[in-house]
Amino acid sequence: MCVICADRAEAVAVGPCDHSEICHHCCLRLRILYRDARCPLCKADNATVYLTAAASSAPAATVAEGGAPQPQPQPHAPPPPPPPPPSFEELEAARARAPDRFYSGKRWALGVHVDKAMPDPPPALLAPGGGVAAAAALRAWQGRWRVPLHVQLLQWTSRSCPVCDPLGRNRRPFGTPKELREHLLTHGRVQCPVCVQAGRRFPLELEAHQIDDLPRHLARAHKHCAFCDEYYYGDDEMYDHMKRKHFHCGICQAAGTHHLYFA
Ligand SMILES: [Zn+2]
Ligand SMILES: [Zn+2]
Ligand SMILES: [Zn+2]
Ligand SMILES: [Zn+2]
Ligand SMILES: [Zn+2]
Ligand SMILES: [Zn+2]
Repeated sequence: MCVICADRAEAVAVGPCDHSEICHHCCLRLRILYRDARCPLCKADNATVYLTAAASSAPAATVAEGGAPQPQPQPHAPPPPPPPPPSFEELEAARARAPDRFYSGKRWALGVHVDKAMPDPPPALLAPGGGVAAAAALRAWQGRWRVPLHVQLLQWTSRSCPVCDPLGRNRRPFGTPKELREHLLTHGRVQCPVCVQAGRRFPLELEAHQIDDLPRHLARAHKHCAFCDEYYYGDDEMYDHMKRKHFHCGICQAAGTHHLYFA
């Protein structure tokens, strides 16, 4: 499980510090969007990091179709726990032996090597006695990995149109944010300029709003400064703006009433 997003990580990031509790998505978000190459757990500066499949990426099929818990036949011990992901050292050795097994982009996610090898299915999915549900889970698992990890991630991070290419698969990504913005207008859509400016998400993760709906998103998702009539991304950005641009009433602050400001 990823310590940042709490997702059951399908793939993990392994750096020289050998922490592997960060998922592939959070690792790329930090490195590409936040330009932060530190390990979120120990703050080690990981110049190089590997993204590789997490062996525990699928749960055991313990629930039969229809939702009723199925008593598992247990003639033997339960299936063995999935093996931990390979260590950084093992991955470095694997890359020295077989450089082609790894993808790294010249201008994409510097220092990141993505393991292209199709992982072995989790032991839980291969355990005998799982029946139809386990077979379906195994097929779903294989379907997800049919596209190699580096291709999945290049698509996920690509500057593509969320309307006509929501999975980033079909066409060349746009070269600049402006090109994407102009293309979206041909659909009558816009991405929120405050969200885009904040740079917390990849283009395909941002909703393409109908132009008329943008004010509703701004009011719902962001903080409005009534003095400037500008929107700020969240509480932190709003607070910074208020501190920098507007006066703060010292009397209120002393009385414990914070966040009251004057233009
Ligand atoms: Zn994560
Ligand atoms: Zn670490
Ligand atoms: Zn489009
Ligand atoms: Zn927004
Ligand atoms: Zn203001
Ligand atoms: Zn006051």
